[in-house]
Amino acid sequence: MPHALPRLVADATLGKLMTHLRLCGFDTLFDRGIPDARRLERLSGGHRIVLTRCQRVWRMLGHPLCLFVDDDHPLAQIRQVLLGLNVRAIDLKPLSRCCRCNELLETVPKMEAAGCVADYVWQSHKHFKKCRSCGRIYWAGSHTQRWLNQMNQWF
Ligand SMILES: [Zn+2]
Repeated sequence: MPHALPRLVADATLGKLMTHLRLCGFDTLFDRGIPDARRLERLSGGHRIVLTRCQRVWRMLGHPLCLFVDDDHPLAQIRQVLLGLNVRAIDLKPLSRCCRCNELLETVPKMEAAGCVADYVWQSHKHFKKCRSCGRIYWAGSHTQRWLNQMNQWF
């Protein structure tokens, strides 16, 4: 049985990681300010784990509220988060959440994606999802598959 994914807050230095985590299905808030332990703690509301690259924030919040991300590379950072939070491959919900606004995506009829994506994409895919907040259309393209394969190798 898949477990519910933990909810997260990422600090401003983790923008790329935040995008990847949302694409994995994590409900992830993004804080654009200079990393500040008190503000990040407020944003977490006590039920989101704070991801930070800031030593000061990490020292103030600590485990289990905070996870310190020490790698530079976004893919290595995801790996660190997945292992650090004991998330398994079956817990992930790829392409379920908008990477721009964190909203859940809805499956839409193929016709609704017409004109919103490149013609070759529309012609070669059957299933599309849409963010009702920003209107962005998502589909499982070859880049998505490569990215999922990469992640599966970590588990
Ligand atoms: Zn969106």
